[in-house]
Amino acid sequence: MDFSLTKEQEMLRKLSAQFALEELEPIAAQIDEEHRFPVESFEKMAKLGFTGIGVPEQYGGTGGGMLEKVIAVEEFAKKCMASAATLSIHLIAPHAILAFGTEEQKQKYLPRLTKGGELGAFALTEPNAGSDAAGVKTTAVYDEKTDEYILNGTKCFITGGARAGVLVVFALTDPKAKTKGISAFIIEKGMPGFSSGKIESKMGLAGSETAELVFEDCRVPAANMLGKINKGFKIAMQSLDAARVGVGAQGLGVAEEAIEMAVKYTHERVQFGKPIAALQGIQWYIADMAMKTEAAKALLYMTASLADSGKPFTKEAAMCKLFAAENARFVTNLALQIHGGYGYMKDYPLERMYRDAKITEIYEGTSEIHKVVIARAVMNK
Ligand SMILES: Cc1cc2nc3c(=O)[nH]c(=O)nc-3n(C[C@H](O)[C@H](O)[C@H](O)COP(=O)(O)OP(=O)(O)OC[C@H]3O[C@@H](n4cnc5c(N)ncnc54)[C@H](O)[C@@H]3O)c2cc1C
Repeated sequence: MDFSLTKEQEMLRKLSAQFALEELEPIAAQIDEEHRFPVESFEKMAKLGFTGIGVPEQYGGTGGGMLEKVIAVEEFAKKCMASAATLSIHLIAPHAILAFGTEEQKQKYLPRLTKGGELGAFALTEPNAGSDAAGVKTTAVYDEKTDEYILNGTKCFITGGARAGVLVVFALTDPKAKTKGISAFIIEKGMPGFSSGKIESKMGLAGSETAELVFEDCRVPAANMLGKINKGFKIAMQSLDAARVGVGAQGLGVAEEAIEMAVKYTHERVQFGKPIAALQGIQWYIADMAMKTEAAKALLYMTASLADSGKPFTKEAAMCKLFAAENARFVTNLALQIHGGYGYMKDYPLERMYRDAKITEIYEGTSEIHKVVIARAVMNK
């Protein structure tokens, strides 16, 4: 398979790398320390068109597809995982509206989420519905007098949920039918009855805000249903396929950067009278890190190309996310190990990268769930 990039894609990589170096790297440690969502860098992302990747220009986007998303997220993740996650997860909402929305919905919401600079969010998880989305308890009851749905329930762990201007939210329109009774809604910040609750304090990814969302008799116009009634589960699963490729790109970027740092350090650090680069044990670490990261990249770019060609990619999305996530943990761990005690100190970014990398094994579906998806695809053909 040919992974050579077009001139435009190469330009996007250059722009993304430059943005990451100039705007994201300088604040990465600070936003982690302060647990602060950097509004200013999200606004700059929007100005430069990153928040409209994958959305056609007619809706305020900058076009491109999955490969473009992978390139930008990979470059961001090298310098700041939290910002890479913000972009990657923001893009789920506009992509879902583009794929499943009516023309009216696209015209109303996509320009806001792209050049308009509003953050998007995707809210599926609930306190008792994580890996098992069938456990969703949030309800949406139709009121025919007003042609509205009334939402009640709580969502948890929603990235950007408290700040998002436009959110794609999943609720039961037919509670007895479980996954076949879930519908998707476009919710706007400020709708009466919709508020945010607890902001989580996390192990890593502290510059990305994770919120609880509360719906108390929240009235949503019926025109805000995304896709057909009771077909929301399909929207959630298809959105997650695309989102998983984004998480793979996060894992790839952080691993690539960790390898670069580790190699540099092996030449600088002298022990037993010679640079540790001369030790075969260290060389073998680097060889394993490089080999697995190249494999993750090949799987990821293959999956992105498959998605962009319009072919099914559920199995490949699960494979590349799982592989890149496990590799991100493996590589950041070894890069930290190569730095010895210095790697454990906050003076070096590796301890943050190690903490940040862990999330890739959990969100947008855990590693165990990806194995379920892969096994199902391979064994039940
Ligand atoms: C920082 C962060 C950001 C997030 N952002 C969002 C967001 O924006 N939107 C959103 O909707 N959600 C979001 N999530 C939620 C995330 O997707 C869930 O945490 C994840 O899907 C796992 O669900 P859970 O935490 O309930 O774990 P559980 O489902 O309770 O899983 C617990 C353990 O059991 C294992 N397990 C469960 N089922 C199986 C099975 N069938 N076979 C084998 N093992 C299994 C899991 O792999 C895991 O190890 C976020 C989570 C975090 C931590």
